[in-house]
Amino acid sequence: MANKRMFDKSIIDSDQFLDMPLTSQAVYFHLNMRADDYGFVDNWKSTLRIIGGKEDDIKVLIMKKLIIPFKSGVIVISHWKLNNNLQKDRIKSTKYIDELRHLKLNENKEYELIDNDEESNILLETSIKETPEWQKKRDDAYKNSSLPYSFLYKIRNSFDNEICPVCGKLMRINSGIKGNMPSIQHLVPISKGGVHELDNIAVICYECNNAIRDEIINEKLNSDLVKKKWEFLSRATSGYVDKNSIDKNSIDKNSIDKNSIDKNSIEVYSSAKAEQCEPKMKEIIDYLNFKTNKHFKYTKNNINKIKTRLNEGFSIDDFKIVIDKKTNEWLNDKNMNTYLRPETLFGNKFESYLNQRETILTTKDIPIDISDF
Ligand SMILES: [Zn+2]
Repeated sequence: MANKRMFDKSIIDSDQFLDMPLTSQAVYFHLNMRADDYGFVDNWKSTLRIIGGKEDDIKVLIMKKLIIPFKSGVIVISHWKLNNNLQKDRIKSTKYIDELRHLKLNENKEYELIDNDEESNILLETSIKETPEWQKKRDDAYKNSSLPYSFLYKIRNSFDNEICPVCGKLMRINSGIKGNMPSIQHLVPISKGGVHELDNIAVICYECNNAIRDEIINEKLNSDLVKKKWEFLSRATSGYVDKNSIDKNSIDKNSIDKNSIDKNSIEVYSSAKAEQCEPKMKEIIDYLNFKTNKHFKYTKNNINKIKTRLNEGFSIDDFKIVIDKKTNEWLNDKNMNTYLRPETLFGNKFESYLNQRETILTTKDIPIDISDF
């Protein structure tokens, strides 16, 4: 990608251009500077963030036909070839061959979509964020549940080395094979009115979960074991009992198959105790794990980051807002996903994350977690 870009005066002097708000004009210039040698920009959301632009600016540019959006989330500068006169032997090829196939250059050297009218309308709609119905239902079910956010990852962890009640294979958390991972199956799927409560939850392998999707299951599967494990896990992490009394008193040994108790529960408990993790810090880490599907523990480093921000006067809700905003933005971004961690989120940029504007999600960004149907 070249470091210098050109602009054709006939574009930026046109009424069409000058009638736009200054922020939209600024977004246009910045997009041009960041486009590849064919005029494609895939990171336009970060461009918006950098200059404080709004999704409305993108909509204005689309309506003024200054940019063309694609379903893939990429956009292209319509007048790229007019603006830039790059020498053929210096042009680097573009990654966006599929998108390029849908474009033609008209007599004015503007990019145009080949199936113009119909397609651009669809594209316009799909480039604006909308939370799908199933996702709303799922969020509601989790919100109304008596189970804490930490339930999901704790219970999945506790089924490491257990047999999938559907296909009989050994479920593993860290085998590196996604199909083997334990995943939550709602017996009556949330999409069909099921609740996110113990009576309605089994843990089966990801592969079976994927095959069943949102069909109703008329068996209990291993939901009784889920209950027992959760009973144990919540006792172990409640902080009211110590490890010794768990072994001696709290558990009815006959009621729990010894092998079904996972080491993780003890680890969670002991690390929490060792670092004197307060409930609100736990809540924050649990919420982060719930949203990201990761397994951060109550370690000293993580807790200290949170403590620092709490001491500065930020509230638990502030933490949740930051977690929500950044997971929306980064969860499905291969490069950024690793930054969904306490170190980054709760570090020095915390306040700017908290105040950042919501970014537009394209349909390709909407997280689809089939393990939670
Ligand atoms: Zn299975």
